[in-house]
Amino acid sequence: MINVTVWNEFHHEKVQDEVKKIYPDGIHGAIADFLGKEEDITVRTATLDDPECGLAQDVIDNTDVLIWWGHVKHGDVSDEVAKRVQEAVLKGMGMIFLHSAHHSKPFKMLMGTTCNLTWREDGDMERVWVIDRAHPICEGIGEYFELEHEETYGEPFGIPEPDKLIMIGWYEGGEVFRSGCCYRRENGRIFYFQPGHEAFPTFYNENVQKIIKNAVRWAKPVYRSNELVCPRVVAPNKR
Ligand code: ZN
Repeated sequence: MINVTVWNEFHHEKVQDEVKKIYPDGIHGAIADFLGKEEDITVRTATLDDPECGLAQDVIDNTDVLIWWGHVKHGDVSDEVAKRVQEAVLKGMGMIFLHSAHHSKPFKMLMGTTCNLTWREDGDMERVWVIDRAHPICEGIGEYFELEHEETYGEPFGIPEPDKLIMIGWYEGGEVFRSGCCYRRENGRIFYFQPGHEAFPTFYNENVQKIIKNAVRWAKPVYRSNELVCPRVVAPNKR
């Protein structure tokens, strides 16, 4: 079983009626709902208002893949929790950052760059092009898929060159964006996925759900180290 924790700042859904209407159980609830139907996935949720942001060390230790959605409350996640997440990834935990999580503390710590982008909220149609159809995250998606409305994210995107770029988003206004980016940071696998603005029902889209399910299976740890150390050692043939 793959143990997934879905983390959400859970703010818009409480204070904006139009968002509450789309995600009555929160964005985390919608994601947990479709992931929980998979036979090989066990899912739990955590939100900003939970003690330690719902990410106490034992939760992290028992999470194979952490999914993160945040937007206006990035600063309310303590540096301690962000560092805990970063270290877990370096040890081997998988991580999926969705949409506006591009500015979350853990993502910026793992990337080491501004992660800035250009954006506008005009409800453009987005066409997400799959540029590596043989990549496990793209399995079953096809040549491209369309979202009737998404927030427009555009280049330049202030990220390190992805280890593998697997999707490019195109918007009817003309912008393009690196919408699916894969990284390795030490033992951990990271996937950044651009769709998921809170004002649109993106997480009910069949292709978006398939991509997140595929990404969970891709990001699950292969090896997880117990500690991050730089030890002085005895030569193997002298032990
Ligand atoms: Zn947004």
